Amino acid sequence: MYTLEDSIKTLKGIGDKTLRLYERLSLYSLWDLLFYFPRTYEEYPHVLSDFSDVSENEKVAIPLTVTELPKNVKTRRMEITTLNGFYKDVPVELVWFRSPYIKNQLQRGQTYIFYGKLASEGAFKKKMEQPIIFTEEKYEKVRSSLQPIYGLTKGLTNNALKKQMQTVLDDVEIKEYLPASYLKKRGLIGFSSAISRIHFPNTFDELKEARNRLVYDEFLSFLIEMERGKLTEEAIPNTFSLSKDAYYKKCLDSLPFELTKGQSSCLEDLLSDVKGDYITQRLIQGDVGSGKTILAFLIMTLFVENGYQSAIMAPTEILAKQHYDTFLSYIKRFDLPFEAHLLVGSMTQKEKKTCYEVLSSGKPCFVIGTNALVQEKANFSGLGLVITDEQHRFGVKQRDTLRKKGVNPFCVVMSATPIPRTLSMILYGDMNISVISDVPKNRLPIKNAVITKKELTTAYQLIYKEVERGHQVYVICPLVEASEKTESENVEDYGKKLSGLFGSKIHVGILHGKMAAEEKQSVMEAFLNKDIDVLCSTTVVEVGVNVPNATVMLIEDAHRFGLAALHQLRGRVGRGDAQSYCIFVDGGKNKEPNKRLEVLNKSNDGFYIAGEDLKLRGPGDFYGIRQSGDFDFVLADVYQDADVLQMASEDAKEILHRDPELSSFEFMTLKEFLSQKSSHQYTNL
Ligand code: ADP
Ligand code: MG
Repeated sequence: MYTLEDSIKTLKGIGDKTLRLYERLSLYSLWDLLFYFPRTYEEYPHVLSDFSDVSENEKVAIPLTVTELPKNVKTRRMEITTLNGFYKDVPVELVWFRSPYIKNQLQRGQTYIFYGKLASEGAFKKKMEQPIIFTEEKYEKVRSSLQPIYGLTKGLTNNALKKQMQTVLDDVEIKEYLPASYLKKRGLIGFSSAISRIHFPNTFDELKEARNRLVYDEFLSFLIEMERGKLTEEAIPNTFSLSKDAYYKKCLDSLPFELTKGQSSCLEDLLSDVKGDYITQRLIQGDVGSGKTILAFLIMTLFVENGYQSAIMAPTEILAKQHYDTFLSYIKRFDLPFEAHLLVGSMTQKEKKTCYEVLSSGKPCFVIGTNALVQEKANFSGLGLVITDEQHRFGVKQRDTLRKKGVNPFCVVMSATPIPRTLSMILYGDMNISVISDVPKNRLPIKNAVITKKELTTAYQLIYKEVERGHQVYVICPLVEASEKTESENVEDYGKKLSGLFGSKIHVGILHGKMAAEEKQSVMEAFLNKDIDVLCSTTVVEVGVNVPNATVMLIEDAHRFGLAALHQLRGRVGRGDAQSYCIFVDGGKNKEPNKRLEVLNKSNDGFYIAGEDLKLRGPGDFYGIRQSGDFDFVLADVYQDADVLQMASEDAKEILHRDPELSSFEFMTLKEFLSQKSSHQYTNL
C-alpha cells in the first residue's frame, strides 16, 4: 500500500528517465499524480456500420479480420508496418510507424477492432494511420466508459500515464477527511471514489459526481482558510495619519471629467476605510471602462501627500507601463510635487536598483509595477496602501505577498470580473465590497457585428474610414505566427496583409507576446502617440489597456476565444466619447451562427454575458473556459458551481464553529496541496 505523500520515485518500474518526464509536469508525489486530472475525456464510438456517414479524418472503430500478417518495411527514415484488409467490401490500409512489434501482437484469423482517424486514399480506398488495436471484448468494455485524456509532455504517452494512474489508484490509501454527516447532507460521494472516478468514470453522471465532490473540497478548503484568517487575525488598529488633503482635493476639483455616481460612492467608501479605526481590505468591482484607475490615483495621492508610499500592481508590463504614464500625466496636470516609480521585470539591474533604493529610503511616492513588486529585493518603507489592478490575473497568494511588504497597509483590489454580489460576498468574505455599476456619461454603447470572412471587405472599409477620421483600430488574431496545426489567422501575416491593403497612408503595427519587452513597449507607445493607426495584435492587449482614441476592434477567428476574453477585448474600445465598433469574425466551419458570438452581439453587459455563457455550456463541458481566474481553483468554476459554493460556505462556517482548531480534520494537507498546485496545472489550456 502506498500513501499519498509517497514520492513517485517509490513506484515500481519508474526509472530516472520517466521520473524526469513527470517532473516536467510538476508531478512529484502521488498526491500530485492523482490530482493531475484529465484535460478531457474520450468516448469510443460504436463500431462503424456505414462508411458513407464518416467525414474525412473522423475517428472511427472498424473491425477487421487478419487474413495475412502485417508487413514491416524499412525506409530510410523509419520502419513502417502495414496491414491490408476489407471492411464491407471497402479496402482499408492500416499503417503504423516505428512500431515493428505490432506484427507480433496480431494473430492470423482473428478479428480486431482498429480505432483511429479514417482518411480517403484515392476514390475507393480508406487509410488509417497509427490505429489503436483492441480485441472485440476489450473494445466493448472501453466503449462503455469514458477514457481520460491527459496533458502530456514529449516522451510520455497518454496510455502510459493512464496505466500509471490505474496502478496507483489500485494501491494507494486515500482517507476520507469529511464527517459522514456532511457527505450525507450534501449528497457527496467519498473522497477516494471521487479521485478514482475523475480519472476513470464509467458514465458522465459518475464524472459529474466525482467532479462535484472535488469542487466542494476545493471551495471548502479555500473558505475554511479564509474564515480562519478572519477569526485568528486580530483587527489591526489604523495608525496612518491622513490629516492632510490639500493635494487630494486639488486633484478632485480639477478632474477633466465629472465622476460617475458609482465612482463617487466608491471613493467615499475608500475614504471612510482609510479614516476608520482599523486596517481594512476592499474589492472594487466595475466592468471594463467604468473608470477604476482614477480612483486608484486619487486615493494613492492621499497617502503620498501624508508621507507614505502607495503601490499599484498590474498583471502585465504593458499595463504597468500604461498606468505609469497615466500617473505621470496626472502628476503633471495637477502639478503635484511627488514622484512616480516604475518597477517591472524587464528593467535593467541598474534601473531596478535605483527603484529599490527609493523604496527602501521611505520616500513618499507612487509605485507602479508588475509582480516584480512582490520580489524579495523590493523592500518598501512606509507603505500605506497597496492596490492590485485586474485582480483576476493574480493569485490570492501574490496579492498577499505584496500586502505583507508593508507593515499592514490598506489593501484594495480592482476587478472587472462580473461576479454576482452574493458570490463575491462569499469569495471575498474577508473584504468590503464596492461596485461601480455605471459607466461615464459620455459613452455611446459599442455597436457590434458578427460577420463571416466573406464580409471582411466591408469591415476593412469601416476601418479605413475610421482611420481617416483620425481614430485608431485594433485587429486581434489568435496566433503570433503561421502554424501547421491550425489555419487560424496570425499577427505576422495579417499585419503584412493589412499594410498591403491599406497602402502607405495608414500605419499598421504589430504586437505579440513573443516580442521583447522593450519592443512591445515602443509599439504600445507608438499606438498611444497615434504613430500607429491599426494595431494588429494577439490578446496581449486583453486586460486594462486604455487608448480612448481607438474606436474599432476587429477580432479575427473570434469563435476561438472564450466569452470572457472576448468581452475584455471589446472593452478596449468605447472608452472615449466617439462611437465605437466591435466586429467579431466567425471563422468557424459551422453553418449556423455561433451562439456565443450572438450573445456578445446582443449585449455589452458583462453580467448578462457571464450568465448566458453558463447556459450555453453543455453537460459535458466540465473544463470549459473558466470565467473567473480570480481564484486559483483547479476544477471549481465560480459560476458553474455557484450552488456548491453556497453549500461549502455554510459548511465551512459550521465546521469552524464546532471545531475552530480543526483538530478532527486533515484539511491542512488538502489545503496546502491545492494552494501550491493550482497555479501551474491549467494555465496553458
Ligand atoms: P477601467 O475601469 O476599465 O480600468 P479606466 O480607468 O481605464 O477604466 O478608464 C477608462 C477611460 O475612461 C479612461 O480614459 C478614463 O480617463 C476615462 N474616465 C474615467 N472616469 C471617467 C468619467 N467619470 N467620465 C469620463 N471619462 C472617464
Ligand atoms: Mg483598468
